[in-house]
Amino acid sequence: MFIELAPEQEVAFRQWARENYKPGADINSMWHPVVQDECQQISTKKCICGATVTVDSFTDDVSRKDFYGDDPHRSGMCQVCQDEIYGEGTK
Ligand SMILES: [Zn+2]
Repeated sequence: MFIELAPEQEVAFRQWARENYKPGADINSMWHPVVQDECQQISTKKCICGATVTVDSFTDDVSRKDFYGDDPHRSGMCQVCQDEIYGEGTK
């Protein structure tokens, strides 16, 4: 369902992703797999605990925004760390 890309096209697709995609934003499944792959790489960062964090690793938008958002007070922590610090719901 997706077109095969020539190497130079793939470069252009990846460049598009780097210029247009914000880390942590939703990855549209309609985008070409090459673009989705680049978005995943852009969003893959490390938590302070050393865990590798991807967009999919967050269970809710609030936690995801807390990691990727522009807020200077954001925690920068992965889902596991956030659950530990903030607690999961009413625990
Ligand atoms: Zn962590």
